[in-house]
Amino acid sequence: MKRAGVAAVLATIVLGIACGPSSKSRADPAAPAARPDILLVTLDTTRADAIGPDARGVDTPAFNTIAARGRRFRQAYAAVPETLPSHASIMTGLYPSEHGVRENARYLSGDHPVVAERLRQAGYHTMAFVSAFTLARRFGLSRGFDIYDDALPDGQAERISSQTTAAAVAQLDREASAPQFVWVHYYDPHAPYVPPEPFLSRYSTQPYLGEVAAMDEQLGRLVQAFERHAVRRGVPAAIVVVGDHGEGLGDHGEIQHGHLLYQSTMHVPLVIAGPGTAPGVVDAPVSTRRVCQTLLDWAGLDSAGSLRAASRPPAEAVLGEAMKPFLEYGWQPQVMSVDGRRKSILSARLEVYDVISDPGETQDLATGTPVQTPAALRDYSLTLSTTTRPPDNLGDDARRKLAALGYVSAATAPPSRKDAPRPADMTALFEVIDRASGLFVRGEYGQAIPLLEQILVRDPRNLDATLRLATAHSSLGHDRQAIAAFDRAAAIAPQSADVRTYLALHYARGKGWEKAVPLLERVVTDTPERLPALEALAVLRERQGRIVEASDLRQKIYQLRTPTPLELIQLGQLAMSAQRTPLAIEAFERARMQQGASFTHDLELGVLYLEARRLPDARAALDRVPPSHPGYPMALFKRAQVSVLLNEPDQAARIDLARRRADATTRELIAKERLFLRRQ
Ligand SMILES: [Zn+2]
Repeated sequence: MKRAGVAAVLATIVLGIACGPSSKSRADPAAPAARPDILLVTLDTTRADAIGPDARGVDTPAFNTIAARGRRFRQAYAAVPETLPSHASIMTGLYPSEHGVRENARYLSGDHPVVAERLRQAGYHTMAFVSAFTLARRFGLSRGFDIYDDALPDGQAERISSQTTAAAVAQLDREASAPQFVWVHYYDPHAPYVPPEPFLSRYSTQPYLGEVAAMDEQLGRLVQAFERHAVRRGVPAAIVVVGDHGEGLGDHGEIQHGHLLYQSTMHVPLVIAGPGTAPGVVDAPVSTRRVCQTLLDWAGLDSAGSLRAASRPPAEAVLGEAMKPFLEYGWQPQVMSVDGRRKSILSARLEVYDVISDPGETQDLATGTPVQTPAALRDYSLTLSTTTRPPDNLGDDARRKLAALGYVSAATAPPSRKDAPRPADMTALFEVIDRASGLFVRGEYGQAIPLLEQILVRDPRNLDATLRLATAHSSLGHDRQAIAAFDRAAAIAPQSADVRTYLALHYARGKGWEKAVPLLERVVTDTPERLPALEALAVLRERQGRIVEASDLRQKIYQLRTPTPLELIQLGQLAMSAQRTPLAIEAFERARMQQGASFTHDLELGVLYLEARRLPDARAALDRVPPSHPGYPMALFKRAQVSVLLNEPDQAARIDLARRRADATTRELIAKERLFLRRQ
């Protein structure tokens, strides 16, 4: 890289071209009537060489039609080879070091404005239709959307493009107002590759390409419907089609994506078409994060960084990262930059490729000749310290759904280690790790153990694998092996809160559960939102008979995750025996709201409301107790008390009824009840 080049690049980085609110507002934003309807289509797992006019072995007429009249970027790069972080960059215009989402199953912080928010503020009606759980509302991309359709077929983690297209087109048919911003995400080319017919037969030897072709057919349907509606509303149509990352398909030893930074997964398709867009082909490298700026430009909000009109996109060091192996296994971090035709990958050492003459990245130009690390890369690597850990409140259900898509988040924060292996040298283990993680998350510990041992032979200081091995043994009741693995984990990371947590969970499972209490207390003090530790401590507090603390913990847990009705009822009972009436009432009422007619704890509610002297509420709850309820005599007794306290005209009859239907318990209580004495 030339000196002038470095300066220009740094200027761009420092100035930033994020999608956030800009201090620079244009004097004459495009008149509302002229603003186009905007369609953004993101193609999951789509390699640049698997779609478009240059693709070999596959026909993609819908994409090609857009490319023929639009502007196609032949050197577009994803920011991260994983779905959520890549989309977070597309939606914020920021690199992951800035928006903080560096792998799947994280949450995009509300601090970073997303393009949908800005378009909605500018008067756009905003709609999203996504096809995989990876992009579900809970991960933070739904912000700014009037409609966020992440509905997946019952219990599934994904839907096929024909279903997503149908949902989007049906919604478009219902919408009359303009302007509109529509984001559609297709997931088909993601593994496993099983395209629908006729693509399955047509691409029987290359089912991955069959998935791309099937998706392209739906892209055609979608674009046609979108343009028809724009014409009906009398506004122009603007379209962006972009890949979120590619797929390894065996290149450089990577089958899928997420572990490495080679072209197979980082080089993606990108085409834009719409008002003010000069048609043609662009060969300068661009980051897909600039989709964000391009959408703002079309909406008349801000043209900085837009890919729309300039004959040459402004200078930019295109950056990328793949931190998953670092975050998950503690391997070397990986960052990359592309400057012209020169691509640099930094992961413990530098690799350099000429991606135009050598798109397969077979000739490392840094071998044998000393090459300076590009400044942009050095700067970028520094930001690693801001790495965040996975959200503590990601529940088992979410983990299982992600695992069903092949994504398993580590439970641990990696220790940094200088001797860590480079991901590119560990490709033989990728598949074993994926299989072991999947088995582990599904609770198939017996099958996971030999795979975890295999990983540890190759990478003996892998903390995540060590802790999973310990936990697998613990869950199967192999106490001796579990403790041996925990000792090994503690030797790798003596200060790790994760080691403490999982060891505590191990003790909590067994006879020595009292040893777990001080460990869990410390974990909960250090990381107050760590769900597994909170849940384990709540159980142990109950076992210790410390019910006030147990109910406090339960309350806290249910702020972090949604409780089931049964859990709410148990909390109600716990709070009742801890004499925490308001908490008990709240828990039972929430359960009643969820269960409707099948709720059977109105007697408890009646007693609690009476205790709280909320007499009309007590009356209503007790009146709901059916005669078939085993506590019906108690309900009649309590109802009579309420009747007296409310001075109801039929109080004498109610006392009489309670007396006639009394059982062994209530007979005595009624006899002693002073409220009833005056009304004999
Ligand atoms: Zn993806």
